[in-house]
Amino acid sequence: MKPESTVMHIDVNSAFLSWHTAYYKQMGIENDFLEKPTVIGGNEKKRHGIVLAKSIPAKKSGVKTGQSLMEAKIACPNLEIIYPRYDVYVKASKSLREFLKTYTPDVDVFSIDECFLNFTDKNKNYEKLAYEIKNTIKKNFGYTVNVGISTNKLLAKQASEFEKPDKIHTLYKEEIKTKLWPLDVSELFMIGRRTAPKLKKLGISTIGDLANCDYNLLIASLKSHGKLIYDYAWGIDNSIFREEHDIKGIGNGSTISFDVEERQVAYKIIMSLCENVGIRLRKENKLCKVVSIGIKSKDFKYSIKQKKINYYTSSTEEIIETAKYLFDVLWDQSPIRHMNVRVSDLIDRKNKQINFFEKENALEKEKLDEAIDKIREKYGSYSIIKASYLDSGIEPVMGGYPSEEYPDMKSIL
Ligand SMILES: [Mg+2]
Repeated sequence: MKPESTVMHIDVNSAFLSWHTAYYKQMGIENDFLEKPTVIGGNEKKRHGIVLAKSIPAKKSGVKTGQSLMEAKIACPNLEIIYPRYDVYVKASKSLREFLKTYTPDVDVFSIDECFLNFTDKNKNYEKLAYEIKNTIKKNFGYTVNVGISTNKLLAKQASEFEKPDKIHTLYKEEIKTKLWPLDVSELFMIGRRTAPKLKKLGISTIGDLANCDYNLLIASLKSHGKLIYDYAWGIDNSIFREEHDIKGIGNGSTISFDVEERQVAYKIIMSLCENVGIRLRKENKLCKVVSIGIKSKDFKYSIKQKKINYYTSSTEEIIETAKYLFDVLWDQSPIRHMNVRVSDLIDRKNKQINFFEKENALEKEKLDEAIDKIREKYGSYSIIKASYLDSGIEPVMGGYPSEEYPDMKSIL
């Protein structure tokens, strides 16, 4: 049997705002966004401008994540709005990960601001180590984290959610009843805005209620999701955490600030969405076989279509070609408000087999993509752009970072 391990969950407190503050500090500007009513949000003038992250003072004024920036301004007139700098956040996230790897090679990334650390040495004092990690991050990087400690990922994550910021918490199996069960059921991982009301209807209001509920009734109402959250209430960590690295698909979408009525404009948006999908696919060392596209029209009609390619690929150009083809099949000329592209049926690059159907210059294309990725990583998304984007007002690479793993990070148009 595998020796029982210790898991730490590291969660950056108010990540975007913390990183933004640290970034300013690096440039010699003292501006603590966490201390003032601040939000990170998209462009205020455009329709999709929403609150992506908020400071505690902003929260106290009634500002909510996901709210439109206009609503937020009404709730808090002296609100400061900062435009997101995904490049800065991605860099900050990477350097944190590198730092954490000095403690254990076994670091699993959960989202841009959350990591799991796995330890197997039974004789170590992990609370002491957690304090060392937390305090070193504060000293060297200039922001705070919460650390949750337990024996599995689920419990470690729940533990880091307890009191914030700058805190260490444990949640061992024997602490579940006292620390986890009294909490509102919505505090449990994987219980979202839709599930919580359903549970309330079943008379389940705390995590303890869930752990001790009528199991058959729960399953009848919530099916397999019921089983999952029931296990979670008992601290049983199952599939979701184990499979989180085995991503099923990579998607990118954007709500557009104007109605798209021309095919050429739609193509540009598709290309831009695909650029980011391609970059992420290659970063994950994956190849895809299925491309799908979704279109939401002005009157909110949503249609989706997918196509299987004859071989596995990570070429941006292949993805673009397929997405454009799908668009032509799908589009009924009605004005478009939202579009998304997704690739799925993924395999690891190392499992690739030479395929008869593959286009002749596939290898060169792959090399070109790799070279472009490298330049963009070093000099930013704008360093290489397709000529058609110049002066088009459309972002050449939409979406800063995995939106699927981190749904708050919507792409910007
Ligand atoms: Mg966080």
